[in-house]
Amino acid sequence: MATVRLHQLSQTFDKHVAIRDISFEIPDGEFWVLVGPSGCGKSTILRSIAGLEPIAAGEISIGDVCVNQMPARQRDVAMVFQNYALYPHMSVAKNLAFGLEMRQMPPVEIRDRVSQVAKMLGLGHLLERLPRQLSGGQQQRVALGRAIVRQPQVFLLDEPLSNLDAQLRAEMRSELKLLHQKVGITTVYVTHDRAEAMTLADRIVVLHQGQIQQIGTPTEVYDRPVNRIVATFIGDPPMNLIEASYRNGLLWVGSRYWGCSRNLQNKLVSYRDQAFELGLRAEAIRLTTPDAGLLIAQVDLIEPLGRETLLKVSLVTPGQEQATPSNPAQTLTIITTDRLSFQIGETIGLTFKESDLLIFDGDSGRCIHTSSLETPTVVA
Ligand code: ATP
Repeated sequence: MATVRLHQLSQTFDKHVAIRDISFEIPDGEFWVLVGPSGCGKSTILRSIAGLEPIAAGEISIGDVCVNQMPARQRDVAMVFQNYALYPHMSVAKNLAFGLEMRQMPPVEIRDRVSQVAKMLGLGHLLERLPRQLSGGQQQRVALGRAIVRQPQVFLLDEPLSNLDAQLRAEMRSELKLLHQKVGITTVYVTHDRAEAMTLADRIVVLHQGQIQQIGTPTEVYDRPVNRIVATFIGDPPMNLIEASYRNGLLWVGSRYWGCSRNLQNKLVSYRDQAFELGLRAEAIRLTTPDAGLLIAQVDLIEPLGRETLLKVSLVTPGQEQATPSNPAQTLTIITTDRLSFQIGETIGLTFKESDLLIFDGDSGRCIHTSSLETPTVVA
């Protein structure tokens, strides 16, 4: 096991900068997830750590050793890919043992390690099968097993679950988490799946266009995103953003307005003539009657999910009941555990606590406010 340290890492393909100035240090034994939209540079970082890409600038250390010039096979890392990459003509046992045989490990030790890992992963009864005689989940377990038997210092996993169906994926996610608790090897995991990132990570690194946006625990990046990019990438559904303004100590959304705490007023005083956005998680919005709502909305879609219901609504501004193409209605997504009695097209009221509001600068997208404990009072 080892720490993994990246210092000002940059990677360029032709003239395209794939990652820029990436720095972080993963403590020994932690599970970190690199997440972000397609093309943001996740795999490039992973491949650079593995030694599969020569790096353009910066430094990578594993343990206390700078590995910039070290060939991939000497780095003592094990990588698991999306496509498993099992040897099709070898049995499960042979697939698990092959890397150790290549390292000329004594046969007794190989047998011990293979049987130990097969037991840990529930593969004991499948050791004589060929990969094509296994389910997707079983193949994925063999791929993981092949990495584990090597007892590397670092695991590098590149979207290892993305070929599996939704149910198996969720099961494998739990297995991976349990496995990490058992073996405790420093792990870097790449995914574009937000749920996977949230459930697996000790820390999440959110990337966008080759740059780090935020590094934090799952709760930190969910509750306190540093900017609009993180707020709308982390979480499913993404955070709702509502255009708003501030005048005379009041928060305004269209022609609706309400009072806010002294703390928030102090933060917004410099935003008197500037656009900003309110951020609200889907589960932070409560449903009420139009009269009691801080905001009024029309119900566009109702999706019952069993335990909860997902609603899509359009904000209604009094005096401007109809949205126009040049001034479209703002839409919000709400999750509620209430059993709903209204229909599509009905007008409802929305309310929320001030402590659940985040505020984002309209130009830079930077988060300028999270959480106070006061509740907004309806003024109109
Ligand atoms: P995905 O989730 O789609 O796998 P990613 O976040 O892992 O995406 P990377 O594969 O790291 O993204 O790619 C980052 C950027 O670098 C992309 O714009 C990609 O087109 C580019 N890129 C990656 N590898 C190469 C290469 N070998 N040659 C040229 N450009 C590349």
